[in-house]
Amino acid sequence: MAGPHFRSHVEISRAQIAANYRAVRQAVGGHVEVLGVVKADAYGHGAVEVSRVLEGEGARWLAVSSVDEGVVLRNAGIRARILVMGGCLRCEYPALGEYALTPAIHSLEELGELDGYCRTSGDALPYHLKIDTGLSRLGVRDPHAAILEAVHAARHARLEGLMTHLASAADHTSPQTGEQCALFECCCRAFRDAGIRVPLVHMASTNALAYGRRESWHSMVRPGHAIYGYVSPPRGQAPARVLDVRPALTWKARILLVKDLPEGALVGYGGSWRAPYPVRVGILAAGYADGIFHRLSNRGKVIAGGKLAPILGTVAMDLTTVDLSQAGHLKAGDEVTLLGREGDVSLDAQQIAKLAGTISYNILCGISARVRRVYV
Ligand SMILES: *Cc1c(COP(=O)(O)O)cnc(C)c1O
Repeated sequence: MAGPHFRSHVEISRAQIAANYRAVRQAVGGHVEVLGVVKADAYGHGAVEVSRVLEGEGARWLAVSSVDEGVVLRNAGIRARILVMGGCLRCEYPALGEYALTPAIHSLEELGELDGYCRTSGDALPYHLKIDTGLSRLGVRDPHAAILEAVHAARHARLEGLMTHLASAADHTSPQTGEQCALFECCCRAFRDAGIRVPLVHMASTNALAYGRRESWHSMVRPGHAIYGYVSPPRGQAPARVLDVRPALTWKARILLVKDLPEGALVGYGGSWRAPYPVRVGILAAGYADGIFHRLSNRGKVIAGGKLAPILGTVAMDLTTVDLSQAGHLKAGDEVTLLGREGDVSLDAQQIAKLAGTISYNILCGISARVRRVYV
């Protein structure tokens, strides 16, 4: 096995990624297209490998954040359509054609520029127009008449999709999702009334599909988190989930050193943890440069020998100290689990995020590039 040679590595289950993708497809039914979001190196899971798995499952659409991310996939031989959702720079327009990437367009000015590029290059690029229905991030917020006029005027670029993005889909105490759905529907109607047929209409990412907000599914959904096995915990009275997915990633680190400390020993930079009794500790070969959040100092846990073991003192750049009192048999070279399961003890990205004061997405994307990815 490749695993034993690494200080710290993640194992990613291709079968689980595929199962999660199939679960999404089944939840939305055959008439709704499923676009797999593989931005940010597939939330730390490896964009090329995950894209291959999704293509193997028949995925016709993938999405990334940037042209750079799309180029990496094309160079690896990925052939599915690729939507670039995080904005394109003007200097990247030639790469859109060269690498067959489809941009999300976020302003009418940008639409004009893309159209101008298409006219001069003779390349009739498809684009998806993003409507800002209330997230107030990327997207067009102009009146419908202005949007329709700009779309009509853009005679060289090809409108292929209308999209928006939800701000609060897991929050069932907020009216925001209903409001965004209504605004988007209104915009779609304006296009229909103007006789413009848009092949793809999409707004739902993981939470809107997992909590069964069917009015948001339209002709395509855009799950990211769900592909990796996560759904955000709901706020308020959530309806039953229509989606069952499981984490696909396990993160391990080796113990570099085991030692017994006397009562009173101070552990780590700043001496922020003091041994109240003699304690056996393990020094792990991973730190914040690998993605163990510094905020987990004196509050995080790992799984050692099948039991939860607290992080002692401050997380350092390359090293983390844990309490091995409950796992005294472990020795240098053995592995502990930073994220994953040992027997019936598990730690997932949401539990870690809670301890670190952040969100699961941040934990997954935070596993740094130097942690080797191993596919099983
Ligand atoms: C990241 C992203 C998604 C995927 O969101 P998840 O919550 O991970 O499913 C969908 N659409 C857009 C525009 C995004 O930026």
